[in-house]
Amino acid sequence: WAKADGKARWTLFDPERNAHRMTRQALSSTLRPAVDRGEFALEYQPLVGMEDGELHGVEALVRWHHPQFGTLTPNRFIGLAEEDGSIVQLGRWVLRTACRQARQWQLDHPGVPPVFVSVNVAVRQVWDSDLVADVADILADTGLAPRLLQLELTESAVMGSAGRPLQALQALSDMGVRIAIDDFGTGYSNLAYLSRLPVSVLKLDGSFVRGFRYEDGAHPNPADEVIVEAMVQLAHRLGLTVTAECVETSGQAKRLRRIGCDTGQGWLYSRPVAPERISALLTSGGA
Ligand code: C2E
Ligand code: MG
Ligand code: MG
Ligand code: MG
Repeated sequence: WAKADGKARWTLFDPERNAHRMTRQALSSTLRPAVDRGEFALEYQPLVGMEDGELHGVEALVRWHHPQFGTLTPNRFIGLAEEDGSIVQLGRWVLRTACRQARQWQLDHPGVPPVFVSVNVAVRQVWDSDLVADVADILADTGLAPRLLQLELTESAVMGSAGRPLQALQALSDMGVRIAIDDFGTGYSNLAYLSRLPVSVLKLDGSFVRGFRYEDGAHPNPADEVIVEAMVQLAHRLGLTVTAECVETSGQAKRLRRIGCDTGQGWLYSRPVAPERISALLTSGGA
């Protein structure tokens, strides 16, 4: 029961916080069996060439169609899955589903250049599982060419990655799989270090592009544009390509194009969509 006094009641029985904790518990207890029950699905978001405006690839983004809580986006459950280790099983399912889908698009649309699929990989998949063996098995089973698979790792997953993670990255890269650094610019890694790793793509974090939004004359953070320009130039000189995340306006796209950014991803082009929508794009020939 709650005391009539509002303040005491709030700290003792914050209903929202309580609901949140219960949801967390409910989610984490149903996470593991949910993979077997087929409650997860992938959406795919176009990665578009800044110069040609064409669909080059897609990023696979997982959703959980929870029987009780409805459709959940990854920020609700990926952290939990990392904590309890079920990310390894879920991650394997994501990889297999994404590779199978990419191969299917290729078979269904022989007339157009094949699109690659970019898959997010959690730190624990590199540390606690044999990612290299999993990827090799999945590519062999699905028939997807390694060059049509890109893996997205965060800076923290590769920083200081002596030993096991570095060997894994090297083996994957030797296989022909492309490695991308996700949310680049938010961590503590530096390009000099990254350039010595088998990494070929930088995905610039959306927070940089957000500073570009000045359609209405407002200019939230002019420094962002300068920083992005310098990062893109340096990345190119180190032989890396650059993808910008969170491109929402044509003004942002124009500036990113001028700066020389290679690929864009964001609501300007498309939200993450069901695989059928990507098939439709491939049929109509363009993004
Ligand atoms: P991320 O890899 O950086 O993916 C991009 C996120 O930005 C996605 O959120 C996407 O829907 C969102 N986004 C795309 N374009 C725009 C835009 O123009 N504006 C804004 N505001 N947002 C945009 P989502 O799908 O909620 O995924 C969140 C994060 O969850 C991902 O960030 C990734 O770190 C993680 N994640 C998603 N799928 C997987 C997965 O299969 N495995 C693992 N380990 N992590 C995943
Ligand atoms: Mg990503
Ligand atoms: Mg990202
Ligand atoms: Mg991001």
